[in-house]
Amino acid sequence: MEKAVVVFSGGQDSTTCLLWALEEFDEVETVTFLYGQRHDAEVECAQKIAEELGVKQKIIHMDLLNQLTENALTRKDMAIEEGEIPNTYVEGRNHIFLSFAAIYAQTIGAKNIITGVSETESSGYPDCRDVFIQSLNKTLNLAMDADLKLITPLMWKDKAAVWEMADQMGRLQYIREHTLTCYNGIIGDGCGECPSCKLRNDGLQTYLQERLPL
Ligand code: ZN
Repeated sequence: MEKAVVVFSGGQDSTTCLLWALEEFDEVETVTFLYGQRHDAEVECAQKIAEELGVKQKIIHMDLLNQLTENALTRKDMAIEEGEIPNTYVEGRNHIFLSFAAIYAQTIGAKNIITGVSETESSGYPDCRDVFIQSLNKTLNLAMDADLKLITPLMWKDKAAVWEMADQMGRLQYIREHTLTCYNGIIGDGCGECPSCKLRNDGLQTYLQERLPL
């Protein structure tokens, strides 16, 4: 009986990972972190998808992150700016989230923890890099004398390849319509203007053109 925990936000990447996990493992649960996201829509979207897919969702409150760091994802009065490291970056977020997810996985007897981080599309976030994930995996096992596995199905995929993965599972349309990636809180194809929408929509167009050559 192989059990997995998926770190789940209701976005394109983590929903693709969740659908993948449902095919790969006997039992799947999700962990969703609340940390004062810009839009409650993000959390509602994650809850709705978990319900639709019939998976258990553990919600963990991480508001304390906002006591330490200021960023445009959680501060509604800050505009999103692009740069080498965009100001949507929450320092150490994946590190903390994965550590909490690992503790939860231990308590429910799940050995596999799945996260949608990608070095290819990381926008320069250091805790999305493969070298960090490998290192944390060792640290978590040492910390808890455990045998956990951090699994990153999207690590080397660009957005077009993530759409391809959804399509291969027959879930491209589901991901396209039900997930929320937009920084302005608009489900599906989003506002089309924010950096997150641009990345997502460019990837989709690239994939659709590759799939259906004219
Ligand atoms: Zn948008």
